[in-house]
Amino acid sequence: MKKKRLMAPGPTPVPPESLLAMAQPAFHHRTATFKELFGEVNQGLKYVFQTTNPVLTFASSGTGAMEGAVANTLCAGDTVLVVRGGKFGERWAEICESYGVNVVPIDVEWGDAVEPNKIADELKKNRDIKAVFATLCETSTAVLTDIGAIGAVVRDTDALLIVDAISALCADDLRTDDWGVDVAVAGSQKGLMTPPGLAFVSLSDRARKAMERSTLPKYYFSFRKALASLEKTDTPYTPAVPLVVALLNSLRMIRQETIESVLERHGRLARAARAGVEAMGLELFSRSPANTVTAITVPAGVDGVKLIGALEKEYGITLAGGQEKLKGKIIRIAHLGYCDDLDLLSALAPIEMAVNKLGHPIELGAGVAAAERVLAEG
Ligand SMILES: *Cc1c(COP(=O)(O)O)cnc(C)c1O
Repeated sequence: MKKKRLMAPGPTPVPPESLLAMAQPAFHHRTATFKELFGEVNQGLKYVFQTTNPVLTFASSGTGAMEGAVANTLCAGDTVLVVRGGKFGERWAEICESYGVNVVPIDVEWGDAVEPNKIADELKKNRDIKAVFATLCETSTAVLTDIGAIGAVVRDTDALLIVDAISALCADDLRTDDWGVDVAVAGSQKGLMTPPGLAFVSLSDRARKAMERSTLPKYYFSFRKALASLEKTDTPYTPAVPLVVALLNSLRMIRQETIESVLERHGRLARAARAGVEAMGLELFSRSPANTVTAITVPAGVDGVKLIGALEKEYGITLAGGQEKLKGKIIRIAHLGYCDDLDLLSALAPIEMAVNKLGHPIELGAGVAAAERVLAEG
């Protein structure tokens, strides 16, 4: 017998109360019942986005809202800056290019965070830049980007700041309003402790002005239609009712814990994870580590794909490997969402055992002990 443990950066475990909430009999969405719960969800979303602006909800994976963010704010032939330091930065560029938007990439070595100066320089060079695209936690490299510093640079220009916070929302701080983030995108299956299938977008006044000039094609992802419905606590098309029900429960849990404590819990788990990895004699991959996920460089002589497979097969734990050029080279532990101290320890212990078995010696318990010491500090 083996218990299953899920510690990948999405989907993440869903609290039993949220799962059970979805098991209630189906009900219609054009009802007072739905309106009431969707109203509370919308307030909860503003709370976790730390914004007073509207937050739209779509039935789609996170990428749908990323595509919507491009299609609703830009025109074909516009030029934008895209921070590209991993798979998700690349996705911003690919979406823009598929809509005929010119991309000026700011390429960053995978594992590094962009220097905000670089964005300032590009914005000075090209006054016609319509938007800057960045990723709060680049999940593929576990890099945290200083969105606050980028916001300080972008806010003096006419460009929009558009941020993929899909993995990082509720794990790494996102001060949407304070930092001047015009469009922030998130998804249900990561820090929000809800199954996959919902995507969210916050829109500042500036973003809503940009919508008026945008001529790119859109239909399902029309933010204009979604905003008009949101004013009536409604959605233009059938919402994913069971997911919204689960989300309501998870948002209530976050509100009860408070967003500040939720962020602090993630910070603490991430510090313990990093201490554990270093005490095992392994290297952290990210030079700007996020609180969402921790990436470990797989030691020379060990195959990272085999390691992920062994962790799954022998210990029942799902961690993430590396993507694209990092395939086989890193493994990633997500301490994300519905995750506590013992969950983290239950990821570190099998890494020690599995890496040993694959031929790279680690003193058993070294990483777990170091993590425990951090957790014991409170
Ligand atoms: C998970 C993730 C996405 C993709 O979301 P989907 O829901 O799979 O479309 C985008 N960006 C980041 C940073 C992510 O972690």
